[in-house]
Amino acid sequence: MFDTLSGKLSGVFEGLSKRGRLSEADVAEAMREVRLAMLDADVALPVVRDFVNKVKEKAVGTEVLESISPGQAVAKIVNDALIEALGGAGNVPLNLAAVAPVPVLMVGLQGSGKTTTSGKIALRLLTRERKRVLLASLDVQRPAAQLQLQQLAERVGVGSLPIIAGQQPVEIARRALETGRREGYDVVILDTAGRLSIDEALMQEVRDVRDATNPVETLLVVDAMTGQDAVNTAQRFNEAVGITGVVMTRMDGDARGGAALSMRAITGAPIKLVGLGEKLEALDDFYPERVAGRILG
Ligand code: GDP
Repeated sequence: MFDTLSGKLSGVFEGLSKRGRLSEADVAEAMREVRLAMLDADVALPVVRDFVNKVKEKAVGTEVLESISPGQAVAKIVNDALIEALGGAGNVPLNLAAVAPVPVLMVGLQGSGKTTTSGKIALRLLTRERKRVLLASLDVQRPAAQLQLQQLAERVGVGSLPIIAGQQPVEIARRALETGRREGYDVVILDTAGRLSIDEALMQEVRDVRDATNPVETLLVVDAMTGQDAVNTAQRFNEAVGITGVVMTRMDGDARGGAALSMRAITGAPIKLVGLGEKLEALDDFYPERVAGRILG
């Protein structure tokens, strides 16, 4: 992940550091290269524009132009701008501040890793916070999905809502919360149905479940490998149902990184967690400063 972008940016800074003092033209040329590197990494165009303008504005300041190591000075500015684009320094944790059982709604397209991520979050809440978690699948289109979540819950060692054939998503969600209340669960994770593409029926279903359960977190799960599509998906979900956070999966793959870099600016929602593999332990907090550090090597 980020390898190409990282390689290209380090090339730009190496070029700058060979030059000694910089002229405005040197900075402009470097910014042109930064712009191309970001577009190549599949970062959304408005994000690239904003990014380059901000960096340029700071980099033509006297401090950089008169610095004895201008390459480093520009790299520092780019580092800060990357952190800002990624959402600002520090992890934004899951918000579970509500009366138990706290409803967490998982949304996203089929294949994004939504069900696996529900299991990963359950495991993390169980092992790190000793929370009692109930998993419930609202996927009535694919009965296999409900079974998959039930088996996952068994592997993780958390509860799962018994399957009742024929129940509709809103009914299942209500039953999950009732069960959560009655049986003393701390968190109820509602895994909504995924579809292969966004359609109005899917959005209406998610809205109905949201209105029936009033979730504290509505987490969108997106696949980092899908680049710009991940950002478009996030934008659509955010407009239709309002998301409170993003979980970006397959950050272990060789995605170019554009989705991670565009997500915050386009949706306003923070990336809270990242998936780093198929194993249930492969879930990490998202730290913009660490990602920026990795990009700049
Ligand atoms: P859903 O249709 O959105 O519920 O997707 P699933 O949870 O069934 O995941 C689809 C596939 O992606 C499964 O094979 C998962 O093991 C895999 N997967 C999920 N998250 C990650 C991740 O972070 N990294 C990798 N490499 N694979 C993942």
